[in-house]
Amino acid sequence: MKTIYLGLGSNIGDRRALLEDALQRIAASGITITKRSTIVETEPAYVLDQPRFLNMVIEAQTTLMPRALLQTLQRIEREMGRRIIVDKGPRSIDIDILFYSDIIMRTKDLTIPHALLHERRFVLEPLNEIAPQLVHPVLRKTVAELCAL
Ligand code: ADP
Ligand code: MG
Repeated sequence: MKTIYLGLGSNIGDRRALLEDALQRIAASGITITKRSTIVETEPAYVLDQPRFLNMVIEAQTTLMPRALLQTLQRIEREMGRRIIVDKGPRSIDIDILFYSDIIMRTKDLTIPHALLHERRFVLEPLNEIAPQLVHPVLRKTVAELCAL
């Protein structure tokens, strides 16, 4: 079993219900959820002219390897009706892999730790609720330290 952290976001439709639906689908896919942050409402980043997001972070345990984990999460996004219309634009559900144990990898379609997590308040703040002492394996700082920057 490996410990993983996932970031979830939604800014279309019944956002809270979509997050809960995603959690149920994750839990039904070989991923055991062990902690969840509160749900925070955040301003959109990158594409500013879109509705506010609800974001949350979870800790989970899985035997899925990184690529299989990404495929599983992308299947859930598709099943939940996610359509990519604008890059970084509105989405019913977004599920990102933030950390996978302490591994570091960078391939064409998967970067772990997530490339932008350290500069996203909407990830760092919920992450700091459930894993303040977690060390970013590339930046070698704890989540609490990244959060304080
Ligand atoms: P974003 O999450 O940045 O708003 P998307 O969800 O559309 O954008 O993801 C775009 C691509 O990011 C995916 O096709 C996936 O292959 C890639 N990707 C790279 N690293 C990760 C990661 N750690 N978690 C999730 N997706 C990732
Ligand atoms: Mg994503």
